[in-house]
Amino acid sequence: MSQFKALLVSKREEGGQTAEIVELSDSDLMEGDVTVAVEWSTVNYKDGLAVTGKAPVVRRWPMVPGIDFAGRVESSTHPDWKAGDNVILNGWGVGETHWGGYGGKARVKGDWLVPLPDGMTSQQAMAIGTAGYTAMLCVMALEQHGLKPGAGDILVTGAAGGVGSVAVALLAGLGYRVLASTGRPQEADYLKSLGAADIIDRSELSGPGKPLAKERWAGAVDSVGSHTLANALAQTRYGGVVAACGLAQGMDLPASVAPFILRGVTLAGIDSVMAPQAKRREAWTRLARDLDHGKLAAITQTATLEDVPRLASEILAGQVRGRVTVKVG
Ligand code: NDP
Repeated sequence: MSQFKALLVSKREEGGQTAEIVELSDSDLMEGDVTVAVEWSTVNYKDGLAVTGKAPVVRRWPMVPGIDFAGRVESSTHPDWKAGDNVILNGWGVGETHWGGYGGKARVKGDWLVPLPDGMTSQQAMAIGTAGYTAMLCVMALEQHGLKPGAGDILVTGAAGGVGSVAVALLAGLGYRVLASTGRPQEADYLKSLGAADIIDRSELSGPGKPLAKERWAGAVDSVGSHTLANALAQTRYGGVVAACGLAQGMDLPASVAPFILRGVTLAGIDSVMAPQAKRREAWTRLARDLDHGKLAAITQTATLEDVPRLASEILAGQVRGRVTVKVG
């Protein structure tokens, strides 16, 4: 029986949780119609919460966390997949209620998988990861609401994080003028190298603001929530759109309806976990086409399963720049 290494998170009897590397075998795997040999995973903000236990992301114990992975199908009884297919998985509760990407193998539902786009490696797919795929969903939402390059500046908040970095690179590559909001001024050169035209200190946006303020941008990608999202909305131009995907500052939204009813601003909610297949496939096809893979490589660091507990704490402390890929298989 084939053995593989995994990071297993377990509940402690006396409270709290442990995260340790263990050896598992095929018979330990959960139910599913496709078994994937996982090659790469990544560290997303939600993985940080799951591995540290800072929020109740894990809802089944013990758990192999890892909300995304890329790998090769080992066996399948699902009509869409056969042994040897290269696949990507994002979300669907994987790493929360179903064993995820921090193990050498994962058994999942074939309906959850998308094909690795032509020309993309499994490591590149995880350099993008759920953060980058979510950034693409945000860009698609801005476009769906009529935003085009030339419409005006686009604000990206949490810009030096995973979602933010990919959003800056994608939007700049598509021809938008990007304003990158960050709490790490030392990352200004990094953000400019991704294509940001200007940097905003996040303290400008993170405190309580007015219901409506001077119009500054045509749209925004917000991975921060709370006052930052409220201020992003209050400073969006007439008819603009804000895509909200994150809560790095907080889950609250201390805003007023003024931007909606006086400026016709749209707030577009972005969910990557349960997004339908068609949207996922479109996002991954667009990522293969629209994202500069040189820039992607420049924002990505590589780690091992052993590094994940440390990286989990760092991402929650806002100390991870860009993206981290985890070599699993
Ligand atoms: P990262 O930790 O990589 O990035 C978050 C960034 O937010 C940080 O780098 C930092 O950017 C900024 N930030 C952190 N703390 C604060 C704070 N207190 N106030 C203001 N800004 C802060 O995480 P990800 O990019 O992976 O994820 C970003 C958010 O998006 C998370 O909340 C995550 O849960 C959410 N998310 C949601 C998804 C969905 O389906 N809706 C999918 C994926 C992610 P800087 O240093 O530049 O200021």
